[in-house]
Order: sequence, then structure tokens, then C-alpha cells
Amino acid sequence: MPATHALAGARTPLSALTGVGPALREKLAARGLSTLQDLWLHLPRGYEDRTALTAIRDLRSGEAAQVEGRVEAVERGFRYRPMLRVAISDASRATLVLRFFHFRAQQVAQFAVGARVRAFGTPRPGQQGLEIVHPSYRILGAGEQPLGEALDPVYPAIESVGPASLRKLIAQALRCLPEESALELLPQAWLDKQQLPSLREAILLLHAPPRDADVALLQIGLHPAQRRLALEEMLAHQLGLRRQRLALQSEGARPLSGDARLVEALLAALPFQLTGAQQRVYAQIREDLLRPRPMLRLVQGDVGSGKTVVAAMAALLAVADGRQAALMAPTELLAEQHCNNLRGWLEPLGVRICWLAGKVTGKARARALKEVASGEAQVVVGTHALMQEGVAFADLALAIVDEQHRFGVHQRLALRDKGSNGVPHQLVMTATPIPRTLAMSAYADLDVSAIDELPPGRTPVMTVALPDRRRDELVERIRVACADGRQAYWVCTLIDESDDVQAQAAQSSFEALQAALPDVRVGLVHGRQKAAEKQATMLAFKAGKLDLLVATTVIEVGVDVPNASLMVIENAERLGLAQLHQLRGRVGRGSAASSCVLLYQHPLSTLARQRLDTLRQTSDGFAIAEKDLQLRGPGELLGTRQTGLAGFRIADLARDADLLPQVHALADQLLRDCPDRAERIVDRWVGGAARYAAA
Ligand code: ADP
Ligand code: MG
Repeated sequence: MPATHALAGARTPLSALTGVGPALREKLAARGLSTLQDLWLHLPRGYEDRTALTAIRDLRSGEAAQVEGRVEAVERGFRYRPMLRVAISDASRATLVLRFFHFRAQQVAQFAVGARVRAFGTPRPGQQGLEIVHPSYRILGAGEQPLGEALDPVYPAIESVGPASLRKLIAQALRCLPEESALELLPQAWLDKQQLPSLREAILLLHAPPRDADVALLQIGLHPAQRRLALEEMLAHQLGLRRQRLALQSEGARPLSGDARLVEALLAALPFQLTGAQQRVYAQIREDLLRPRPMLRLVQGDVGSGKTVVAAMAALLAVADGRQAALMAPTELLAEQHCNNLRGWLEPLGVRICWLAGKVTGKARARALKEVASGEAQVVVGTHALMQEGVAFADLALAIVDEQHRFGVHQRLALRDKGSNGVPHQLVMTATPIPRTLAMSAYADLDVSAIDELPPGRTPVMTVALPDRRRDELVERIRVACADGRQAYWVCTLIDESDDVQAQAAQSSFEALQAALPDVRVGLVHGRQKAAEKQATMLAFKAGKLDLLVATTVIEVGVDVPNASLMVIENAERLGLAQLHQLRGRVGRGSAASSCVLLYQHPLSTLARQRLDTLRQTSDGFAIAEKDLQLRGPGELLGTRQTGLAGFRIADLARDADLLPQVHALADQLLRDCPDRAERIVDRWVGGAARYAAA
């Protein structure tokens, strides 16, 4: 039906689908799903193979399978919490336990002894042989029950939308998928050469892989259909960044004069000498600022490498010319820390610093805004509140953004728009080094420099890995350290990204540690607390009023408490290298010898062991980043988020890095031969040329 296809374009809102009312539309939109195309590209995060049955005897721990058997015994327990155990067995004369922690009375009644059950899940060793916790299951009636035809997609969950309705919705959207010729944007000859499927084929396959599809490849994201989508997405991103850089540079900026008198005054007053790397990067920045086009520079520097002082020097170059600089950090905590640092360094030089964050309201806000607008404020420090409308600078010359990966490209651009007098120069700082190859791709719009040297005199953090069963020893060690006047972090980590679950885990560790360490002053910070509460606890810790800080990974970025010299990271095996490295960077900031304990659950997977070993052996963020890329090969999907690179839906820069040469070549080709196609590719993936054009 070509007519419907033509109407049902990629940008058609989901309200056009049957059954999508305002409430559902809202829930989907909350997850960034608002058009047909969004659903086409809402790919399964995994697949379940219900096309076959496995004999219970042949089940293997950790491998998902479908079984069918009869209920042998049912047991309900209430020891610690309600529990239901259902033993089933099959013709292979082996028994499997299905275990439930949440269940309804009606469910219990279903499991009559002798009932036939078909269940799907991942078996794990239990008290008596293998068991599956919370399998998906069906009670079978009499007669034959057909098995599945295709692999069942498992979609990333969407809050309060059931998996079944989501599947139906996606199926409906897929029926509107245009013909190949209308959908395809990559050159056919090129696809043929790479032996990649068309976009249409790829999308259809990924939502319903045929029974003979290579499940193993699909599960790790390396199926040609997935590669094809990842490639197009990376291409779109690359094209967008290149276009943006060109557009930005064509706008021009007012050069600074390079007057370094204030910088010299600062250096003379500092209690330390700059490292060679700091000097080099400062020189690069100064060069950039002398040019009549906007600086677009990313400074990568390991935790503790001293990026802040370099930023302060850059800001002083703006101030020396009678213009303004802004420094923006992703959290209030971090921004406030910067503000204090800058006040300490710059106010003695007569520089006026202004603080602007979300919680600055009422009269204080009005006063701050006035200072910023009049130019009285020479350096403005704050959070994303800096970018809000209504914040007008008198003459913003330099916009500095710390910890770039927490901000999207678009947020960075918003600050750029604050220049009233030409485009401001931009300096972006990140503590998450990424390997050069990736940097080129992720930051095609930026020049990259590195502060690849730590200030002298830092004692490296002693890192050890400890199995969880030795927790008691560790708690004792914390007691001794705290009694000795040292401070410690206890970081609770979970794979579950939800703040709620994280907060709960932190809460229970907090309570356990409080009980075990009556003489230690223990504090707690997590993402569910109000900003003020978090801040108060952090400040108390910083001021030495707390000895032990139990925290979720909210403390990951930039927090600076030099007296903290011990860190415990719970479930360290679950985190990626980059994140572990970031966390560890919270200690070893003072002169005391520091240590980091990676607490893990036994047994470790090979990869997890390699990660922990890497961390024990090196503290060089760049080396760790390279290793991370190397380790996170196929199959290792955990911790991909933490690289924090642009929000890809499908591509994973670590997994798909080998596609980069092709991406770059294809980008060149398209920009040269068919720029309008390039435009449409950006539009499809990056969401509207407008966002970039306006950029
Ligand atoms: P990061 O790069 O992680 O943001 P910071 O800028 O917070 O690091 O610097 C970490 C600490 O090192 C700060 O206390 C800072 O004053 C100090 N510092 C910066 N540069 C030097 C240096 N060259 N020598 C000694 N200490 C330095
Ligand atoms: Mg920093």
C-alpha cells in the first residue's frame, strides 16, 4: 500500500498508531520515543529463543533456555521473605527449581502437582541443583503446544508500558516501514561491497530474527544487521559534528590580545609550579585565543592532573582584555568547588567572581544576573543555570565547560550562544580520557589536547582486590583508619541504573556500617536525596565532621577531599575500567598514602579479573582507556555507558570502533558527492537539522 507508506513517514507521531492515546504517548515520549522512526530504531536489547525446548538434564548454568516439565513439588517459605519454589522434571529425569519471590495466591494455585509447565529463563546453581529465579512461564493445557517461529525480542523496558503492548506497538510501527528505495540513504554500491544489508532489511531482521539467525552474534551486537545500523548512526554523528565545526568556525570570533600579566601574577602566587603538560596545554589555548575564529578545544586530563588551574589561566586571558569568562560544571557540588578554588586564586588579583546556580534565587539571583549583564562579574561560575534564558553576558569571551561527558553537545552550544559580541571561544575539559582513535570520532568538532602528567609528589593509590567474604576484615581496617584520623569512602555500585535501587543499596550498606562501626561518624549520599541534603553531607565530610562517607556513584565526578585516603568500591567487578578509575581518583589527592579496595563477588569472570588487574597495575588514565577499549570487545556490554560519548542509540564506540575508518571514508565521500544525502542522514539520526543549523 504505497499510499499509506507515503503518509506514514518516519516523523509521523506515534499518536497515529491505533491504541496510542495521550497517556501512552506521554510515557513513550518520556523515553524519547515520539515518532514511528523512534520505534523502528527501538531495538531489542536481547533475544529469547523459544523456538526449541532443552531437556532439563542438558541445562547449563548461565545459559538461557526453554524447558517443559511437570510439577513435582511445591514449597512456600516465609523465612526471611515470601518465597515460592516449584520443582519440575521432564523426560530427561532431571529436576529444575523455579523460584519466585513475588507471587500471588492465584499463581500458587496454578502450580498443582502434575501440571505441565513451559518455562524460560537462565538457570543458576541453587540449593538443590539448578534453579531459575522468576522464569517467564506458562501452564500448558492438554495437547500439543506449538513452539515459537522466530526469536522473541526483549525490548528495553519502558516504565508502565507492558512488554506485550510494547511489542504490539512496535509491530504496528514496522508495518508502516517504507519501501527500501524510500528508506535507504547509503550508496548501494558501497553496501554491496561491505556485504551489509539495506536499512529496511536490517530493521526488520533485528525486530524478528528468523529461527536460523545467528543468535550469538545478535546477543553481542555484532550481527551484520546491527553493524549496518551502528555504522549509519556513527556516520550521522560524524557528519553532524563536522558540519557543526565548519559552521561555527565560519562565524568568527574576536581574538584576545594574549595579555598574560594576570596569568603571571597568578603563577607567582601559586604554591606550586605548573607541570610541563599544564604549560604546554596552556600555551596551546593561548595560541587558539589569539585567532579570529572560535577556539574549540577539548582538554583531556586524568583525575588530579590539574585542569582547573589551566582553566583559571585561560579565564584570566579574557579578564585581562576586559572581557568575561564563564565556567560551567555538571553538578552544583562540583561547580561550587570550582567557585571556591577560583575565588581563592583570582580574588587576590582583584578579579570579581560571580556564582550562579539553580539554587541562587530571588534577590541574590537578580543581583547576580545584573552583575553578569553589566560586566562587573568578570568570571562567572555555575551549573547549567548559566545557560538558561535570561542570563545575558556583557561580553562573554570564553566559555569553559568542565567534565564534558555529562553535558550533551547541545548544552555546550547553548553556552556558546551567550556571546553577545561574536561567538565565544570554547574550552571543554574532561577527566575521562578516551583513546585517540575514539577521540577523533567522538569529538570531530573539537581540537584535542592532553594534560598527560600528574603534579609531582603524588603517591600512587595502592589498589587491592578483595573478595566479598573478607568484608569483615575490611570493616575492621576502616575502623582503624578512621580512629587514626583518616577519612574513607564506601562506594555502593549496582548495574541497575535506577536511582531508587541504588539508593536502597547504599542505605542498607550505610546501616550495616553504622551498626558495625559505632565509633565512626558515617554519612550517606545518594541520587535520591535533595541537592541541599547531598551538599550538606559532602561539606560535612570535607570539613572532617564525618569519617566515612557511604555513597553511590554520585561522587564519581570531581569531588575533592584531600584528607580522604581510603576508598572501598563494592561490586567492583560490575563496573567498567573508566568508571573505576574515575572513582579511585577521589583518593590520593593529598600527601597521605592512599588505598583503594576493590571488593568483588566471587567468582570473577575472566574479563572482570583483567579489569581489576589493570587497575591494580596502573594509574595512568590514558593507558587505562586504551586497555578498556581493548578489553571491552564483543560480549562485554557492561559499562559501555560510562565512556559517556554522545548518546548513541545503537552504536557503541568501544564495540564498533573498528568501523571508524569506514565511517570516516564514507563521510568524506558523501560530503563531496552528495551533501544533501549527508544532510538527510544527520537529520534521521541526530534529530532535526535545525538543532545543528541553529548551533
Ligand atoms: P583535575 O584535573 O582532576 O580537575 P584539579 O584541577 O582539581 O584536578 O587539581 C587537583 C589538585 O592538584 C588541586 O588541589 C590543585 O590545586 C593541585 N595542582 C594543580 N596543578 C598542580 C601542580 N602543578 N603542582 C601541584 N599541585 C597542583
Ligand atoms: Mg576537575
